[in-house]
Amino acid sequence: MKTALVCGAGGFIGGHLVKRLKDEGYWVRGVDLKAHEFSKLPADEFIIGDLREQTIVRRVVDRPFDEVYQLAADMGGAGYIFTGNHDADVMHNSATINLNMAEQARLAGVKKLFYSSSACMYPAYNQEDPDNPKCSEESAYPAAPDSEYGWEKLFSERLYLAYNRNYGMEVRVARFHNIFGPQGTWRGGKEKAPAAMCRKVAEAENGGEIEIWGDGKQTRSFLYIDECLEGVRRLMQGNFLGPVNIGSEEMVTINQLAGLAMEIAGKKLSIKHIDGPLGVRGRNSDNKLLREKLAWEPAMRLREGMTRTYSWISKKVEAAKTEEVPA
Ligand code: NAD
Repeated sequence: MKTALVCGAGGFIGGHLVKRLKDEGYWVRGVDLKAHEFSKLPADEFIIGDLREQTIVRRVVDRPFDEVYQLAADMGGAGYIFTGNHDADVMHNSATINLNMAEQARLAGVKKLFYSSSACMYPAYNQEDPDNPKCSEESAYPAAPDSEYGWEKLFSERLYLAYNRNYGMEVRVARFHNIFGPQGTWRGGKEKAPAAMCRKVAEAENGGEIEIWGDGKQTRSFLYIDECLEGVRRLMQGNFLGPVNIGSEEMVTINQLAGLAMEIAGKKLSIKHIDGPLGVRGRNSDNKLLREKLAWEPAMRLREGMTRTYSWISKKVEAAKTEEVPA
């Protein structure tokens, strides 16, 4: 039986990955600072632990796992990453996790390690035109990410690739572009645009109003979680190290994303544009290298992914209405 370790298993992508690996017949150990918020995971073992601590990392990476998935990171949506208020934590916490993990994976003889980088590492200067953002893999340099989160991702992808060059450690690196779906953070400040949009629309009365940060003309693409995992699994099974984009090429404006959520909900709402943290003006995945190296690309339309996500979040919103409000 193949063995896998999922770091960040208590999070959105990690939780889904644990389920997928169990479905594929793996023995799975998960590790996270916290248990999964929304579901009881089928992991064979789940360790609650802080990967910034070397003693914990030694305990967690105590054998030559066939596959390690390093997803643990101090992260959140624009409200967390782009305000600047968490920069030191984001850099220190995530870099410490990655430094610890790379070294211990080498010492334990881990056979293959996956690292989740982010599209946030691409240079801001290529993402100023919302209609023509450039995010091909080779456009990463000269580096100029617009957030410290992006800089840390760039550092850590280089770290794992250096372990590959110097120690022959098998690594795979993907740059995720806005992954979304059910069982992700949907409130509290760390949620990302699709979840925030679904929540706002679900909470609004028909004919009411929702707030959107900025003018809503900034562009992004969003990839449904199942497609993300398919890409990750294919990358792990193939010979290409990466970095490679795992994202969707279906670019929309944030206003269009809001319109889609309203259509799915069957509500007509007006949009109030307010000041807020935004990130780059335009971003879209470029899947040329993905198609070339993995002979695959995601196919699910944004509407389908949003329909599934709205269905899950609207139930959460309903349930929250009857939650006990602390005095
Ligand atoms: P998430 O925040 O839901 O999951 C990350 C998990 O890491 C959390 O459960 C958190 O508790 C855990 N963690 C943080 N610090 C830790 C520590 N010191 N020790 C142990 N666990 C710790 O985020 P996600 O959306 O599931 O993202 C997973 C990975 O993919 C992250 O590395 C993220 O940067 C990357 N990524 C995600 C997206 C996206 O759109 N979701 C896009 C690009 C990259």
